[in-house]
Amino acid sequence: MPKSVFATANADHVIFAAEYEASCICKLQHDIAREATKRFAENDFENAWKALSDDRRQEIVLEGIYRTMCIPDMEERRKYCPDSSLENLTSRGGEEYLRMLKCLLPSNLDALPTVPLEIPHTFVDRIFTPTEEELQYPGCKTFFRSMKNSRTYALSTVIWNILLTFYGIEETQQPIRPDRGRFIHTEGLSKSATREIVREHNEQRKLIPNACSFCGLSEDRLPAGRKLQACSKCRQLNRRMFYCSKECQTKDWKLGSPRPHKLICGKPLTEDNMPKATPAGAAKTASGIPDPDPGFTRSPALLHQISLLSDNPRIDYVIVRPYPEPDQGICLADAMGSLMFKVVRNRALKSGDRQAVNAIYKMLIPSMDKTRLPRSMLCKQLELEFGHRVEEDPDAAGPSVDHSEAPFTKEELEQAMEDLDI
Ligand SMILES: [Zn+2]
Ligand SMILES: [Zn+2]
Repeated sequence: MPKSVFATANADHVIFAAEYEASCICKLQHDIAREATKRFAENDFENAWKALSDDRRQEIVLEGIYRTMCIPDMEERRKYCPDSSLENLTSRGGEEYLRMLKCLLPSNLDALPTVPLEIPHTFVDRIFTPTEEELQYPGCKTFFRSMKNSRTYALSTVIWNILLTFYGIEETQQPIRPDRGRFIHTEGLSKSATREIVREHNEQRKLIPNACSFCGLSEDRLPAGRKLQACSKCRQLNRRMFYCSKECQTKDWKLGSPRPHKLICGKPLTEDNMPKATPAGAAKTASGIPDPDPGFTRSPALLHQISLLSDNPRIDYVIVRPYPEPDQGICLADAMGSLMFKVVRNRALKSGDRQAVNAIYKMLIPSMDKTRLPRSMLCKQLELEFGHRVEEDPDAAGPSVDHSEAPFTKEELEQAMEDLDI
């Protein structure tokens, strides 16, 4: 590949554009994960999808592809997605689509990721992996990242639209601004054509109002008399960083996403200060629910449970019911019971531990009986969440669970106490 192709990709605004595109894809994937996990949990999407006739499944996939292709710029991006064909998406009695959809589910739903999840493809991945020699050129990483973004965006959108079609949901989707993240191939273009592209780019850029780089407040929505302040060091680089207040500037400096501003202020962007995926298990999430153990993949229904628990930290467990039935949040009556329950629950959420799942069942039975929900409903839900069938035990009376076989660790207890503010 000629060196000049990469050279344009190393420009400040191209790196920013690639980042912007990645953040749009992250938002889309977050929407997909939220909706999909809810459908898996409430409507048992997995079995409903597999139960379709081949003809019906083809119809839905075709409609999903069609809706996607109606979005401007999508045809170009779909070139990188040989696996978005009708044939592939309907293969293995629907299993292939489910597999691809599950690739887009993160291990935790409470934080917006900064790096998109990718769907592996042996052939495409080989093309998208730069050689040692190519890696020497500045701009190379951005160039490949941008191609991957195109693929991930198109593929995620197809998968999203198939899910929406299945549930009869309409969505009008805003395309990622087509002026962003596109490379200007200077080679083979006449000078006047290049000028024309740059002019068009600048015109489109003018349409986007300046906004605070931290909170996103745009110039036209500021209180009268106030103006956005540009970061003076970055202005010298012709980089558009603005702040609505001193407070936002300070926050962005230390806490900015996808990276703290202090890392790039006044310095040219390089591929090394691009955001990186946070390694799994690095941090516990805002809700205090631990990340899963490396060998444990959470089911979509379990991810949905976790997102419900994160949204409602006072609730111990949520009995999920299909719309329009309301979900039923369960709080164990006493603080000690709740503490014990949280330890067991978090252990199950972390590793899928069978004993812990059985214990969840036993500890929740009194609450199920009190709310007059059948115990079988809880059995079914736990099976969907953990893939483990608990014995429906008519005699199980209360929260007396034998912990002697797997005593609590100090760490587990500390975590639970922290959550309870003891
Ligand atoms: Zn602000
Ligand atoms: Zn700056």
